[in-house]
Amino acid sequence: MKSLEENFKKNKVSCVSVIKVKGGDIYRGVSFAIERVGGVNLKGKSVLIKPNLVDPRLPESGEITNPEVVEALIKYCKEKGAEKIVVGDGPSYYQSETRLKDCFTKTGTAKVAEKCGVKWVIFDDLSYRKFRNVSPYTPPEFMVTDLVFTSDVIINVPVMKTHFMSKVTLAMKNLKGTLKRENKPKFHRNLARAVVELNKIVRPTLNIVDATLVRKDFPLLIAGKDIVATDAVTSSIMGFNPEDVEMIKFGFEEGLGEINLDKIKVEGDDLKGIKMNFFLPSEKIKEKFPLLKLEVENACCGCLIPILSCLSEFEESKEKLKIKLRIVAGEKEEKILKTPFPNTVFIGNCTKKVAKNFFVEGCPPDEKEIKKTLKNFFIREEQTQDKKRGIII
Ligand code: SF4
Repeated sequence: MKSLEENFKKNKVSCVSVIKVKGGDIYRGVSFAIERVGGVNLKGKSVLIKPNLVDPRLPESGEITNPEVVEALIKYCKEKGAEKIVVGDGPSYYQSETRLKDCFTKTGTAKVAEKCGVKWVIFDDLSYRKFRNVSPYTPPEFMVTDLVFTSDVIINVPVMKTHFMSKVTLAMKNLKGTLKRENKPKFHRNLARAVVELNKIVRPTLNIVDATLVRKDFPLLIAGKDIVATDAVTSSIMGFNPEDVEMIKFGFEEGLGEINLDKIKVEGDDLKGIKMNFFLPSEKIKEKFPLLKLEVENACCGCLIPILSCLSEFEESKEKLKIKLRIVAGEKEEKILKTPFPNTVFIGNCTKKVAKNFFVEGCPPDEKEIKKTLKNFFIREEQTQDKKRGIII
């Protein structure tokens, strides 16, 4: 990868635009954000717009790209003469086949694409290109959607959010959606390194981080052609040092872009010192469930994702832990049994050796089974209140 690094150092001054969306005019924000980083030649081109549609959630959840940003991008591309525009993504591995379409329809993305007269596609329905023996960090064989190789322009549109394993999940990680779904879990074994390898294969023309719904009073868009610089500036706005985010650091070391904030030219609104002070997911869990102890250090996403998804469902339905609980996943030493803890749920076959009482087997374990087991320890908030008032329900 030396040549990439040398090339980058020789030729580029990285530029990232940070634009505050004013008066709810997302189209204006999108146009500014693109123009401030030098624009993109779209005339007569085929364009792939790649949002983050990991789950069939509403945009307000902060988990998926705001469809209004996708709509503004479609309009911008049309106005600049793009010949063909496609909106595409490959949702999470943990979505059932039947929910893949929901990731486009329930999120509102299908509706804006149809309104603008462009096609939306689930990558799983199209052809893939096979890669073999790319690096020690990636699976021996994996597939990437053909669409990233057949489109002239790729516009990568992640959402500003944190991630349990990689601290942040921004432009670099959003490209994981281009992988065939069954290859995704294996990328989590060495997530930061594997995503960097994928970023050497899939090279977006432009990245636009959607932060329009993070804070209603401060809707932002962050754009850049240098994917590492875009993520570095965004993570710094979120309150993290980009040097502490492995994926960004390894991306810089591999010559994919600039990490040094002093060397990145930031264009757009004067937002000096703006910090959004995001909490890491582990801190958020501690705050929401103070009685919970998570021991999941060696677990891969096969266990982590369903555990976190159950916790987030409990949170959404206002369910609280009624007693102290420890959740254990990933390879563990026998000595864990000696640590006194009254209630422990062991999740996944990695914990089989040490598991007692509450054990959800499988690799990966079934999310429904995890939820059923954890449910024994949770109670709805109003039930707690009603009990306090002496009402038996
Ligand atoms: S049981 Fe399987 S899915 Fe769970 S942590 Fe172990 S390897 Fe990953």
